[in-house]
Amino acid sequence: GQCALACPTGAIVVKDDTRKLWKDIYDKNTRVSVQIAPAVRVALGKELGLNDGENAIGKIVAALRRMGFDDIFDTSTGADLTVLEESAELLKRIKEGKNDMPLFTSCCPAWVNYCEKFYPELLPHVSTCRSPMEMFAAVIKEEYSTSSKRLVHVAVMPCTAKKFEAAREEFKVNGVPNVDYVISTQELIQMIKESGIIFSDLEPEAIDMPFGTYTGAGVIFGVTGGVTEAVLRRVVSDKSATSFRSLAYTGVRGMKGVKEASVMYGDRKLRIAVVSGLKNASDLIEKIKSGEHYDLVEVMACPGGCINGGGQPFVQSEEKEKRGKGLYSADKLCNIKSSEENPLMMTLYKGALKGRVHELLHVDYAAKKEAK
Ligand code: SF4
Repeated sequence: GQCALACPTGAIVVKDDTRKLWKDIYDKNTRVSVQIAPAVRVALGKELGLNDGENAIGKIVAALRRMGFDDIFDTSTGADLTVLEESAELLKRIKEGKNDMPLFTSCCPAWVNYCEKFYPELLPHVSTCRSPMEMFAAVIKEEYSTSSKRLVHVAVMPCTAKKFEAAREEFKVNGVPNVDYVISTQELIQMIKESGIIFSDLEPEAIDMPFGTYTGAGVIFGVTGGVTEAVLRRVVSDKSATSFRSLAYTGVRGMKGVKEASVMYGDRKLRIAVVSGLKNASDLIEKIKSGEHYDLVEVMACPGGCINGGGQPFVQSEEKEKRGKGLYSADKLCNIKSSEENPLMMTLYKGALKGRVHELLHVDYAAKKEAK
């Protein structure tokens, strides 16, 4: 307590959080599940004896298991849910002719905050989809609700904005957040070091079932343009490998802060903008206000997307690109590339999500604004 007050950076408070988490992990009456965001796997290796950009997901799973986590999942699975819901929302808007304004993505909480603060009039155009972290957490808590143990859910995330997102009222059930702890990549590195695990020596292990399947579309969420490419894989009618490969060349990839792409949907050309960095977002919004038309706008607050999140070890831009490449290679390794082909999705929609899609997967940021 005393230390926390004396600590100007708040680092001690963060430390207290991980200490509390260690207690929950060791408590036999608590079942602790964890999800790992896509961007984390390509950013923590360097601090732990691997190369930056190297996909370390298997070693992360092995480390978390040794640390005592009970169920280990991948946020990419949550991202598959987001792709399905967000593309449905996009297509519905187009069908209903509500396309005077673009649909803005909603998975970056720092962007949502920014929009609430500076562009509240745009909130009705922000997707009602919860972020992959929140969608997945709601599903996991629901699926394990009959467990006799106390449930704790942890998310390993590339940023601190996710901590604020997890604490929002919209994502609590009876006052308890669906995500109990958000641990940044840096904090995970610290926890791995504290436990004395030699990370580079670990044999890679697999994610747990029954929520262990995910697609390449989910993995690329961690890099700017990834959400868009994943949604495009869902909406294009040609699902061949060649068609998916050509989506990569529409302009959605690369580290540029502002990108544009267009794809055909039936006889309609969809115009898309991908921005990262909030200054780029505000410039684009001004352009839209003065008449420029887009159907979909992806916004990530961090330049380059989550690979460059504030909770990740800091690197120069060259290394950032390596992280992006690491995620695209991880996508290549996935045998399923499009979210609707993830067999787990069908199971979830027929099971826990039946009749509860709105309740568990969506949020209305605009309505909250009106209620104020
Ligand atoms: Fe967090 Fe940055 Fe990713 Fe937004 S872009 S979710 S702030 S890491």
